Amino acid sequence: ARLQAIARGQGALPTFLRQIEDYVSSVVGRVPPVLAPSSSPSSPTPRMPGSGANTDQPTAQRAPGPPLPLESLLRERFGFPAFRAHQQAVCEAATAGDDVLLVMPTGAGKSLCYQLPGLARGGTTLVISPLIALMEDQVARLQSLGLRAERIHSGRPRLESRQVCVDYVAGALDFLFVAPERLGVSGFPELLARRPLGLIAIDEAHCISQWGHDFRPDYRLLGQRLPLLRPAPVVALTATATPLVQRDIVAQLGLGGKARLFIHGFRRHNLALETLELPPKERPGRALAWLSSAERLPAIVYAPTRKTAEGVAQLLAKKHRAEAYHAGLSPELRDRVQTDFLAGRLDVVVATVAFGMGVDKADIRTVLHLALPSSVESYYQEIGRAGRDGKPSRAVLMHHAADRKTHDFFLERDYPDVAVLEKLFAALAAKPISPDTLRKKTRVAKADFAKALEKLWIHGGVQGVIEGELTRGQGAWREPYAAQRALRLEQLALMAKFASGARTCRMLSLVEHFGDSEDSGAVCGQCDVCVPGSSLKTQAAPPGGFATFSAPTKRRAKRARKSGSSSKSGGRRKSRTPAVALPVAGPSAALVATLRAWRLLESKKKRVPAFRVLTNRALVAIADARPATPSALREVKGVGPKLLKSYGAQLVALCTRGRS
Ligand code: ADP
Ligand code: MG
Repeated sequence: ARLQAIARGQGALPTFLRQIEDYVSSVVGRVPPVLAPSSSPSSPTPRMPGSGANTDQPTAQRAPGPPLPLESLLRERFGFPAFRAHQQAVCEAATAGDDVLLVMPTGAGKSLCYQLPGLARGGTTLVISPLIALMEDQVARLQSLGLRAERIHSGRPRLESRQVCVDYVAGALDFLFVAPERLGVSGFPELLARRPLGLIAIDEAHCISQWGHDFRPDYRLLGQRLPLLRPAPVVALTATATPLVQRDIVAQLGLGGKARLFIHGFRRHNLALETLELPPKERPGRALAWLSSAERLPAIVYAPTRKTAEGVAQLLAKKHRAEAYHAGLSPELRDRVQTDFLAGRLDVVVATVAFGMGVDKADIRTVLHLALPSSVESYYQEIGRAGRDGKPSRAVLMHHAADRKTHDFFLERDYPDVAVLEKLFAALAAKPISPDTLRKKTRVAKADFAKALEKLWIHGGVQGVIEGELTRGQGAWREPYAAQRALRLEQLALMAKFASGARTCRMLSLVEHFGDSEDSGAVCGQCDVCVPGSSLKTQAAPPGGFATFSAPTKRRAKRARKSGSSSKSGGRRKSRTPAVALPVAGPSAALVATLRAWRLLESKKKRVPAFRVLTNRALVAIADARPATPSALREVKGVGPKLLKSYGAQLVALCTRGRS
C-alpha cells in the first residue's frame, strides 16, 4: 500500500526504504541468537539451531578496561623476546587509545602493532583486510597462539559466518577479520555496533586512497561506517604510502588532526637493487641465466601479463622447479603454487602482480621484474618480498622504453574517455535505474561501460551501485577523475625515471620517494649505481636455446616475414638498439597511437564519442593483426560489417602505411 501511495506521489521512496531498514535492524537487535557461542576458537564447527542455545554463556574475554602491560603480553602471548624497531612506540600509542597511521615496509612486523594493543585493551579487535588469503593466514596464526580469532568472508559457508556473528555478539572473540565490502551489507555494521570494539585495525590501508597504486572502491565504505563503530581507536597499516597517500588515508578515515603518524624504515640494508635496459625478448633468457646459480633462489619473477608468466615459467621449468601464478588460474591451483613455494617445494614462481600480498617467506633471494612496474609504490612493495631474513638479496628490474608505451596503452583502456563518463552521467537522474537499463539507454560498449561506471562511482557522479540501482550523483566528478588519470601518468613517469636514472643511489631514491624523514640519507653501496657493472649487466646471455619463449605467434611470424621490416633495413636484427620500440608481446605501440589519433579526428568530425568510432578492444585487435586487406580486417575480432563499411578502407590504409 505504501508503495502504491508513493507511486501516486504521496511520500518518498528513500524515506520508506530507510524506515524498513531501521525496522529490520531493531528487530534483529531484539532476537536472541539461535546458535550458541562455540566453545573454542579452534573448533569452528557450527552447532545446529536449537542444539543448546545459551546466550548467557560466560566467556574468558576481558572487557575493555585498563590495559595490560605490553612487554609481558609480547613475551607470553606472542612468544617474542623483544620489540622490533618502532613497534613499542606504536603499540603504546594505540593502547592508549590514539588513532595511528603506521607505514612500515612489508615484513617489518606491522601486524603486531594492532594485535598487541588489541589484546592489551581487551574487547574484540575488528580487522579490515582486503584479501581472503590474508585473512585466513592471519587468523590461523592467531589461533595457533591460542587466541580467539575468526573471520567472515564470501569463501565461507553461511552457517559458519553466522556462528562467527553469534560468537562476536557473545563477546567470545579477540579478533574478527572482515573484508571492507562486508560493511556495506545492510545490518552488519549495526551488528558490530552491538558491542563496544576494543580496537579497529585497517590492513593495507593504502587501498582506501585513489592516489595509491591499489585503490579498492570498497574501502571507501570505511569512512562512512567507522563513526558507528567508534570510539575504539583506529590503527591503519600499510607498507606503501607516499606522503600524498598518507594524507589521503587520514582524511578518508576521518582521523583528523589527532592521528599519530609513524612512517618508518624504508631503507633495506640487505637488498641490492639493479636495473637493466633490455628488449623484451631477451629478458626470459637473462632471467634464466641469472637464476642458474643456487644461491639466487628461491625467487619471484614478476611478469607483465598472464601469458608472459606462463611462457617464462615454462622456460624456467627446464632448469628449476618453477610454476606460473596469476589471477586466471583456478583458486585451487593458485593455492597449491603458493603453498608449494612457501614450503620450499618450488624454486621460482613466475607471477603477475596477483601474487604476493601476504606471502610471508623469509628466504627469498631474488625478486626479478620482467617489465617496468606501473608505479614506484608497487615496485617497492614487490621487491620488499626479498630477503626478509636479513641475508643478502637482490632485486633485478628489466625494462625498456617500449614498456612505457605498453603501460600508456593500458592506462587509456582503464581510464575511459571523459566523454563516456559524461554520457552515463547525463543519462542518470534522481529516479533509480538498473545498470543494465543505463547501459542500454546510453549504448556504451560493455567493456567500456563497467570501467566508466566504476570511475564515475569512485568520483561521486553516480550513487547506489551497491544496492544495484543507480541514481545521479554530484556533478563535481570531472576534476577528480582528470586528476586521478594525471596521477597515474605521473606515477608511470616516476617509475620510468627511477629505472633509467643512473646518478642517484637506487635505495636512496626509494627512501626519498616515501619521505622517510628519519633516514640517514647515505648511499647504499651495493646497487648498480653505487657499484657500476656489478652483476647482471656483465653477465653474458646463455648461448641460444631460449628462442622458444619469444617465438612469435604464427600470425606475427607471417607479418614479420611479409613486412620484413628490420631485416631489410640494415642487416641482421640486432635487438640491442633501443630504436626497436615494438614490444614483442602485444600490438605495435606506434600503430596503436596512429589508430587512436585517427579515431580522435574521426570522432570530432562526426561529433560522436571516440568509442563509437572504434572500441578500444577492436582498436587493439586491429593493431595486433595489422590487416593488409579488407578481408583480413573482417577476420579481426570485434570488427563488424558496419565498421568495415564505414572505415574499412581507411583502417587498412593506416595499417599498411609505412610498411616497406
Ligand atoms: P608486515 O605486516 O609488516 O608485513 P608481519 O606483521 O606479517 O609484517 O610480520 C612479519 C614477521 O615478523 C612475522 O613472521 C612476525 O611473526 C614477525 N615478527 C613481528 N614482530 C616480531 C618481534 N617483535 N620479534 C620477532 N618476530 C616478529
Ligand atoms: Mg601485513
